[in-house]
Amino acid sequence: MDDSKYDQYLEHMRLSEYPMLKGTTYLDHAGTTLYSKSLIDRFSADMIANHYGNPHSASSSSQNTSARIDTVRTSLLDLFHADPDEFDLVFVANATAGIKLVADAFRESEGGFWYGYHKDAHTSLVGVRELAASHRCFESDEDVERWLNDDHRQLESSQNRTGLFGYPAQSNMNGRRLPLHWPGQISSKAQRSGNSLYTLLDAAALVSTAPLKLSNTENAPDFTVLSLYKMFGFPDLGCLIVRKSSGGILRQRKYFGGGTVDMVVCVKEQWHARKSETLHDGFEDGTLPIHSILAVQSALEVHRETLGSLERISRHTTALAKQLLDGLESLQHGNKTSVCTIYSGGSTAYGNASAQGPIVSFNVQNAQGSWIGHTEVEKLASIKDIQLRTGGLCNPGGIASSLDLAPWEMRQNFSAGQRCGTDHDIMNGKPTGMIRVSLGAMSTSSDVRRFLEFVEEYFVEDDVSNTILPTPPPTPCTSRSFQVESLMVYPIKSCAGYRIPTGTPWYIRKEGLVWDREWCLIHRGTGAALSQKRYPKMALLRPAIDFTKGVLRVRYTGSTAGLQVIEVPLSEDPSLFDNADYKNQTARVCGDTITTRLYRSEELNMFFTDALGVDCQLARFPASGTTTSTRHAKAHLQKYQKQQREPHIPGSFPEMELKQGAGPTMLLSNESPILMMSRSSLNRLNEQIKLNGGKAVHAEVFRANIIIAEPYVTPPGDEEPYAEDTWHGMQIGCQYFRMLGSCRRCQMVCVDQDTAVKNEEPFTTLSKTRRFDGKVFFGQHSCHVPLANDLSPQSQNPTITVGDVVRPITSEDEVMEDAGILC
Ligand SMILES: *Cc1c(COP(=O)(O)O)cnc(C)c1O
Repeated sequence: MDDSKYDQYLEHMRLSEYPMLKGTTYLDHAGTTLYSKSLIDRFSADMIANHYGNPHSASSSSQNTSARIDTVRTSLLDLFHADPDEFDLVFVANATAGIKLVADAFRESEGGFWYGYHKDAHTSLVGVRELAASHRCFESDEDVERWLNDDHRQLESSQNRTGLFGYPAQSNMNGRRLPLHWPGQISSKAQRSGNSLYTLLDAAALVSTAPLKLSNTENAPDFTVLSLYKMFGFPDLGCLIVRKSSGGILRQRKYFGGGTVDMVVCVKEQWHARKSETLHDGFEDGTLPIHSILAVQSALEVHRETLGSLERISRHTTALAKQLLDGLESLQHGNKTSVCTIYSGGSTAYGNASAQGPIVSFNVQNAQGSWIGHTEVEKLASIKDIQLRTGGLCNPGGIASSLDLAPWEMRQNFSAGQRCGTDHDIMNGKPTGMIRVSLGAMSTSSDVRRFLEFVEEYFVEDDVSNTILPTPPPTPCTSRSFQVESLMVYPIKSCAGYRIPTGTPWYIRKEGLVWDREWCLIHRGTGAALSQKRYPKMALLRPAIDFTKGVLRVRYTGSTAGLQVIEVPLSEDPSLFDNADYKNQTARVCGDTITTRLYRSEELNMFFTDALGVDCQLARFPASGTTTSTRHAKAHLQKYQKQQREPHIPGSFPEMELKQGAGPTMLLSNESPILMMSRSSLNRLNEQIKLNGGKAVHAEVFRANIIIAEPYVTPPGDEEPYAEDTWHGMQIGCQYFRMLGSCRRCQMVCVDQDTAVKNEEPFTTLSKTRRFDGKVFFGQHSCHVPLANDLSPQSQNPTITVGDVVRPITSEDEVMEDAGILC
């Protein structure tokens, strides 16, 4: 088949071989776990037809296994053109385990060892430095070349230490392929200088889309690691390929495991003899992952039959990457500024397989040049069923140099809360991570096209092609009054809301509306509070508060076996809880560690466990005063809001500082005590969704506590959508509230609260119309401000009621004057 037809062939083959990819655009091949149907079929047929025993005995099933394992070992060596006389292959769990095995042996060198590594190294390769006596990070290829050609300088240490140089054959961050001639140069440098210097090549990223040839033994690395799942999707297994002549140093390793020794003496004397018949014998600790190794046979066969050679995969993916790069580079906003900043690591080598693999990493900027957070791109991609990876990508050196992050900045960001997998995507005006699109063996040009269309649709600001104009920031400020349309509480965090009956005055506390987010469901394994983002079915757990009976009644509407109901007493009866002294029951909610009380009742816990299909326990977080842990609001004014507010008047009341730990207290809500939204804003959003061909959404998806509306039927053009963005506060009935800032949104708003089904809207339209500084906002955080007059009943027991008039407060002084006291 010629190359031009290959793409079409893949497109067709994918339908039957990778049915799990149906409807998704899979662009995360660098960490791929994509296995084909034929592979699983062939492996399962093999397992069913043959009995493979544990290879530690002489039985026929044991011998059968041993023979097959040997075959797999040589087939893999063959795949990498490694002569079995010169190389051996050690099965390990993954590339990381191979790296660790090598490092464990080197650390036993007399006087320790010197470790040099390239800045493009994966985290797993960087970690070796902690075992070394001294180490050095090479900051560029030129840095390595200079060191290679400099015979006068010994290794970085004064002693004649053993040295190890580790580097990736391909960067997992940007796909850049590093020179493969270094190992040969390093070994000749070692010979010239009399040092013992070895090379550890991390080929984990390379071999998923390119061949690796170890046929030139002289120039081959001493140690090569890779992960087979990145090539075949299955099995989960790695290899360490060792050049036999360099294998001696591995025998320095101190630990021995079962299967690696011929004789061990324990009693009275301590002595052991390592297996020495083959090299791999000494390093495969314990029982081999037999079935995984056997599966490699099927994987090799099916891979070859369905995808062809690694050379063909390389040609195909190289061409696709060029198409992707060209596409992203050509995207421009209406004002001719670039949309994507691409981190190609200095390589302009797309199209040249020896210098560049099929990965493009980048960040997105708006027409004004501000960064769009990579988590925003990921949220939107996930709604569109585009799978990619964003963030730090397990490549600390590559990230730091591409994003120009100095060590102090990274430490500062860490102190400010940045962690792997958090929302802190832009800090101090700089991205902290990037978006990685990684093509793999079964990527096609239609994947590339779909991705380019996605970026174009959501991130290119071009008034002509966008049917929807971004909502201009509202002008300050309305004086018109609104009224409370509805009040909602969410007694169990992330479950459905309870609508407060019309005419019922509802108490407000400084932590928010009473009974709001007082309970949560805790994952029994991890201790973390469950959220709808991962468990959409939580929307079908519908709590209602029954004051007459004194219970929280929870219905589960998702069961096929009819309606299920359970009741939880509202009273805090200690006998209901797991232990009388609940102080040590900690749980995690949105990154905070809190003290909760876990319910004892198995009936209760099974109700929730059965409904959600995850082992969980109901917990209660009592209002402050009854517990040691307190949570504080994290909400703060967004930049776009600050710009809309009037300039600060000197001498006026200072803006309340809302540093973490200093803000208003709250129970289990994510960011602030009370979330409010406006019907007029929702109406505007729904008009835009419909313009876009989508279906209008209900207010429930935003999970607000207070929904306000304009009091009369206002013609659409006369409404004041998003006026609340500019308010400093609001008066509801005779109560005052301070606005704390806009609520940042994620794809959870796409869960239909009636059916628990995920949709594309409203997030896709929100991200076109309500994106400021790279983040998407809808609704406002707020907190109650107690009245100054401490004696009135309304101040001792403040309430609000559906139908109350809502009066916007449009200056900071007014919040203070009217309420007379700080909150
Ligand atoms: C994935 C990867 C690793 C780690 O592989 P594991 O299978 O997680 O051990 C190391 N280096 C590179 C370049 C990788 O892409």
